[in-house]
Order: sequence, then C-alpha cells, then structure tokens
Amino acid sequence: MNVGDAFKKIIIVRETASPWYTEEGVLIMSIYDFLLDRNSLEYQKSRARRGIPTGRTDCVKQNGRRNPMSRYDIAIIGTGPAGLEAALTAKARNKNILLIGSADLSAKVTKAHTIQNYLGLSNVSGREMQEAFLKQIESAGIKITDEQAKNIYAMGDYFVIQTGEIDSMVEAETLILATGLSQTKGLPGEDQFLGKGVSYCATCDAALFRGKKTAVIGYAPREENEADFLSELASEVLYFPQYAGEVRTAPTVKVIREKPVGILGDLSARTLETDGGEYEVDGIFILRDNIAPDKLVPGLELDAGHVKVTPQMETNIPGCFAAGDITGPPYQYIKAAGQGNVAALAAVNYLAAKRKE
Ligand SMILES: Cc1cc2nc3c(=O)[nH]c(=O)nc-3n(C[C@H](O)[C@H](O)[C@H](O)COP(=O)(O)OP(=O)(O)OC[C@H]3O[C@@H](n4cnc5c(N)ncnc54)[C@H](O)[C@@H]3O)c2cc1C
Repeated sequence: MNVGDAFKKIIIVRETASPWYTEEGVLIMSIYDFLLDRNSLEYQKSRARRGIPTGRTDCVKQNGRRNPMSRYDIAIIGTGPAGLEAALTAKARNKNILLIGSADLSAKVTKAHTIQNYLGLSNVSGREMQEAFLKQIESAGIKITDEQAKNIYAMGDYFVIQTGEIDSMVEAETLILATGLSQTKGLPGEDQFLGKGVSYCATCDAALFRGKKTAVIGYAPREENEADFLSELASEVLYFPQYAGEVRTAPTVKVIREKPVGILGDLSARTLETDGGEYEVDGIFILRDNIAPDKLVPGLELDAGHVKVTPQMETNIPGCFAAGDITGPPYQYIKAAGQGNVAALAAVNYLAAKRKE
C-alpha cells in the first residue's frame, strides 16, 4: 500500500468505524504511521483527525478554564517570564488567549535565591518574583490552564494542541512556544521510534495499546496517575520511576527501579533496555516535564538545539512564534520577558494580516 492509498483507507475507516480506536482503526493508523514521516503535514493531519471534529471544540471541558465552541486567537505554552509576558501583552491587545503551563509558574523562577537584575523588582527572592508575577497576571484576568502540552500539530492555518487530559484538544490560530530550555537528552532509539511504539502521552495514546504490554518511564510522581490509567487498558504496565521517594501506583502496575538506557526495535519499538536488563514490550511511554521543541511541534526548525527565530520571534512554521530560553542564550529573565512581548505583538500582527486576506 502506498501512502496515498493508506490515506484514503484512513478516511474510510474514520467514516465507517466508531470510535476511531477500534481494533481495525488502530491497525490501519499504525500502518499509516509507519508509512509517513512524522514531520510531514499529512502525518500531523492524520493525528489530529483521530480525535478532533475540525472546527469544533465541543470535546473541550466546559468548566470555565477554556472557552468552548471557539478557536483561540493565541495559545501560549509555558508559564515562565516569556509565556507570562506574552500573555499579558496579548491580553492587553484584547486577544482571546489560552495559557497552558504550571500554575506554580517556572521552577527557574521559584528556585532562584536572589534576583538582582530584573527591572522593577530589586533584590527579590524567586518566591517573591513568583508572587509578583502571579499578582500581575491575576489582576489582568489571565487564567492558567494547569496542564502540559503533549503534542502540537500545525494544521496549515491553525494549530491543534493536545494536553495530557482526556478529551483535551484545543485549537488556536497562532502559537507562542515559551517552554524554556530543554536539557533532556533523549534515550538512544527514542527519536527513531517516536510515533512507532514510543509516546510522550499516556492519556493521548493509551487506546493504541489496549491489551498490550507497555513500559512507562516516569520522571515525576504525578506520572504514576498516567501509569494507573494505562493499566486499565494495557495487559501489563511496567513502571520505571526516575525519581527518589515512595511510588504509589495501582497494584496492577509493576514498579521497577532501573534506569532506561535505550530502545530497540524493528518497524516499531520492541525492547526497553535498562541498566538492569531488557524488557520486551509493545509500547513505551516516556513522561518527562520538558519535551524537546521539535518533538512537541513536528517540523519546527532548530539551530544547535534551540528554536530558530527571526528578530520578530517567528519560527519556520507560519503562525508559530517562540520566546525565552527556548530560543537560546543569554538565559535571563528580562530577555525572556522581552521576547514574550515581541512574540505576542508579532502574533497580533499576523492575525490582523490574516484577517485582511
Ligand atoms: C537557579 C537559577 C537562578 C537564576 N537566576 C537568574 C537571575 O538572577 N537573573 C536572570 O536574569 N536569570 C536567572 N536565571 C535564568 C532564568 O531562570 C531563565 O532565563 C528564565 O526563567 C527563562 O524564562 P522562560 O520563560 O524562557 O523559561 P522558563 O522559566 O524555564 O519557563 C518555562 C516554563 O514552561 C513550562 N513548560 C515546559 N514544557 C511545557 C509544556 N510542554 N507544556 C506546558 N508548559 C511547559 C516549564 O515547566 C516552565 O514552567 C536563573 C536560573 C536558575 C535555574
């Protein structure tokens, strides 16, 4: 089957099979995934097709955190100085925004001992800076959606953002990436098998592993919930915590305190290698705080590990902007905030130009 035929087949499956993750659907989709380059627009569209009624956001929670039945003007990912300043500027320009990130803001803010070089806040601790930032965004009426963006798909003239929550797909016309520095070096084999047995989001992809054996590598205690959720569908879940302290997973989850060192496979991932042995599995979930930007947004161009931007904070993807440490050194609060401001204004101009077309 060539790519074109596979594409037609998917559309047929989507029209006849419901829900999309029936055994038949899963099989077709995974063959299709093997056939396509993950960075291609077709791949991104196929991923989005699996769960999104295009143009509608009625899958979005209606608990006040998100605006149902609409597409956001600007989605901002990250709640460090870059993301917060982007949100303040976009809000001041009266845009309909979605700010996704930790409600506690950035660990790089809270963990700083004393900050001496941020204009307007002299000799403050990280906690004091956090308080000042929170006060300002609250008074501007900005709400933080306390989630992590797991996958983002560029759909041509809009973006689909998927978080780890069930039914959590949202659309935005523009995107500002402000996720900070990605210091995590992937495991050997991780890149090769991403989308082919390796996933960054259990909630998003668990259905593909119904009745299968899976491994979950969790870099923070909150990932225990993801392992528990997966254990409701998978035949077996091996959980590899990469942090100290007690692990509280469901009794059906097998906890293994070993360090993953690589992923092996053929057409898809088959084996998780650790410092203690090898585990034959059908799927591997790697759940860490910081997803490399080009994995979060397939097709994003990097330069020496940083997102390549123009002076207007434009990336190579139209409508996608980036700001802060993610764009490279110097790594400084005020520079991150300044770039957040530029990115927001560039997004506002982009929207204005688009609406005149
Ligand atoms: C200990 C320490 C002290 C420092 N002291 C100073 C100083 O005195 N002066 C100075 O100028 N700079 C200092 N820095 C540097 C400064 O912290 C950074 O330059 C600045 O925080 C960068 O801001 P940012 O918004 O780009 O990224 P970050 O502050 O790193 O914020 C990024 C945010 O995005 C979140 N995120 C990541 N991925 C996702 C995702 N997929 N979905 C949702 N959210 C996501 C992260 O959790 C984080 O909250 C210090 C850094 C450290 C670590």
